[in-house]
Amino acid sequence: MDTELCGFISKSDMNSQHAHCNLCKKDIRGSIYNVKRHVKSTFHKQNVQAMKCTVPVDQLVQTPEVQKKQLFDDSVKDAELRLAGWVAKEDISIRKTDSLLQVMKSCFPNDAVCQALASSRTKTTGIIKNVLATEEKVQIANWLRNNKFAIIVDEYTDKSWAKVLVIIAKYVDANYKVREDFLGLVDVHDASSAGQKNLIMKCLSDLGIPIQNLMGIGFDNASVNTGSVKGLGRCLKRKYQICSFLVV
Ligand SMILES: [Zn+2]
Repeated sequence: MDTELCGFISKSDMNSQHAHCNLCKKDIRGSIYNVKRHVKSTFHKQNVQAMKCTVPVDQLVQTPEVQKKQLFDDSVKDAELRLAGWVAKEDISIRKTDSLLQVMKSCFPNDAVCQALASSRTKTTGIIKNVLATEEKVQIANWLRNNKFAIIVDEYTDKSWAKVLVIIAKYVDANYKVREDFLGLVDVHDASSAGQKNLIMKCLSDLGIPIQNLMGIGFDNASVNTGSVKGLGRCLKRKYQICSFLVV
């Protein structure tokens, strides 16, 4: 039989005068000419296309072994996230992560998840910076988009003599607890009040937080902040016309 036919066409149960298309579930009466004509028909071609797009059921259903491995991998990832979160929350030196893991593995030699943990200090740093901090910042920004808040800012010079501005958000969360959360650490190239104001605005803008929700600012007694004409507090209050803006 023709190679383009042999996959679908077989003998019909009706009689020797008919062929049967297994794909279309249809009997075709007559000669090979009629069979070829059926194969070229739109109906048959649509069924061929539908068959190509259909994923076999055995590919959709995972085997118990695959499911078991998936569950195990998820448990390892969950443990690594919890470990990195604990290191960040308790402010423990990330360099201690390697030795902490060694102790854990020696304490729990029969725990497969513990033995599979691979949170080196490099990986822990990556998880904290790229997963936990990113997700935390998204959640904070989502809250501040719809709720009033204040910021605390402070400029300092780090070990490399680079000037940076720390921006902390202070707000009341959904559980009525007062929280102070890190919003950003930005390089300062213009240390004037106008320069700092622009950095604060850019930080909030990048996070999609409207300036209208900013109700106050806290800073130290540097004149660049407290100046009665060009101070940072005055700048923000005047520029954005925030009536109840508090300067502490
Ligand atoms: Zn057919």
